[in-house]
Amino acid sequence: MSALERLGSSVWRVHAPGLTLKPYEGTQCYFVGTADTVWLVDTGDGGPRATQALNTAWTELGAPPVALILITHGHRDHFGGAAWAHQHFRAPVGVHPADRAAVMSDCADATPFLPGSYHIGPVAVDVLHMPGHTPGQLNLWLPTDRTLLAGDNVLGDTTSVVVPPAGDLHDYRTTLDRLAALDPALIGPGHGSVVREPRGWLTYYREHRAERDRQVVDLLAEGALSVPELAAAIYGRDQAHTYRAGQLMLLGHLTALEHDGVVAELSDGRYVLCEGSR
Ligand SMILES: [Zn+2]
Repeated sequence: MSALERLGSSVWRVHAPGLTLKPYEGTQCYFVGTADTVWLVDTGDGGPRATQALNTAWTELGAPPVALILITHGHRDHFGGAAWAHQHFRAPVGVHPADRAAVMSDCADATPFLPGSYHIGPVAVDVLHMPGHTPGQLNLWLPTDRTLLAGDNVLGDTTSVVVPPAGDLHDYRTTLDRLAALDPALIGPGHGSVVREPRGWLTYYREHRAERDRQVVDLLAEGALSVPELAAAIYGRDQAHTYRAGQLMLLGHLTALEHDGVVAELSDGRYVLCEGSR
């Protein structure tokens, strides 16, 4: 079976199996460009299954020169193979300055890469700073095909995980609005299936966040609550794992709502609705 899936005139997807968040079993990496020059977007976790998949795919493409290894963000399932790829493809590794420190833990040569308009051979690409999942998340936009490579801002089969301290739901909401405004024809996510109906999927993403915000506001309308109390009300106490992850997710919502002036934190750690938000 081919390791490569062609997604448009100048994008190929490679599934790099490895350690990542459930329910996913690896990271979606992308080659972008032409037979003469490509960028590699993300490297998987750096384990043997991931590096083998990337090498097989690259060979299938005709082993084109790699001009850049672009890391979408500083999570190990995306940059864990950076040092390997740097050596193997003899290409520079670029990452947004805000996520660079994490990537340098694997690849000391990772260089700061700034958003802007670039060319990969004849292929025009915009590198967009889309923070939220992490402060330095970079997305790739191919205007000709209206194809978006979304890193972990958009996943193929579930909503994304945006938790403090690295994740910021306030930024993430703005990012989702900006991604929707691009009106992509196709999204290549960081994990999972290709999103072939981006409009509906992005609407679902935005509504999912808004719905959870409403739930939090409705519960706080009854009185001040701590994060564990909110999590127990929303997730139930019996699901220990969901419950812990849920507390972090809720903290993300509370932080964003606090930023908007909707809720405030009391000195005892409980949250209340602000005057006028009831
Ligand atoms: Zn991530």
